[in-house]
Amino acid sequence: MEACIMDDKKRCGAVSGLTTVVNPISLARLVMEKTPHIYLAFDGAEAFAREQGVETLDSSHFITPDNVERLNKAKEAKRVQIDYTQPLHKDKKEETPDADGDSKLGTVGCVAVDSFGNLASATSTGGFVNKMVGRIGDTPIIGAGTYANNLCAVSATGKGEAIIRGTVARDVAALMEFKGVSLKEAAAYVVEESTPKGNVGLIAVSAAGEVTMPFNTTGMFRACATEDGYSEIGIWPNSVENGGDNH
Ligand code: ASP
Repeated sequence: MEACIMDDKKRCGAVSGLTTVVNPISLARLVMEKTPHIYLAFDGAEAFAREQGVETLDSSHFITPDNVERLNKAKEAKRVQIDYTQPLHKDKKEETPDADGDSKLGTVGCVAVDSFGNLASATSTGGFVNKMVGRIGDTPIIGAGTYANNLCAVSATGKGEAIIRGTVARDVAALMEFKGVSLKEAAAYVVEESTPKGNVGLIAVSAAGEVTMPFNTTGMFRACATEDGYSEIGIWPNSVENGGDNH
């Protein structure tokens, strides 16, 4: 498991290679608040978790029969995949696969802005099923899966290698910073023009409270809520009639 948190003052913390920590994002926050560093991984991150007294469980807790089955199926198919492709049991409803047969159940991202324009972004994931031991994805990498500055907060999901190559989250902020474009325009450019199709989705808010949730996969589980009562929940692209911003 791995996670990352960042705020508009560019304070940030990240962890990866965790096998026992129940809430990796809380540990990422402790790295941000209690250490002179940004990123702790593997044994060092686990030792820091013990030192801070965060909730941990034996790693066997995370090895559920469903997860083992998912892993075995991925191994059989020789696939490294985002969560899983097939329903695990006949009586379970099929999980919304995307064009590549992947479903989007793995990563959880959250971005927030308050009435003063304070921004924060956080992302947490178990990464891919059947990933290599030691593989680190985009989620804990500042500027790839997670980024915030005084203009916006961004959290990405999708194929980590493509997101790292594209510095996806930072590119959204950079377009706003250097080109002066709006959050929506910046995010749409990164998702539609600069990251290969089928690879990425992101959620983002600006200091002014603008929200955007574009993706170039078939679907992305997403939701947003504003203080004045607006809320939106979606999986598939919004239709133009719905005022959707997913191209
Ligand atoms: N981006 C994550 C990774 O590559 C996977 C995901 O978003 O589900 O580890």
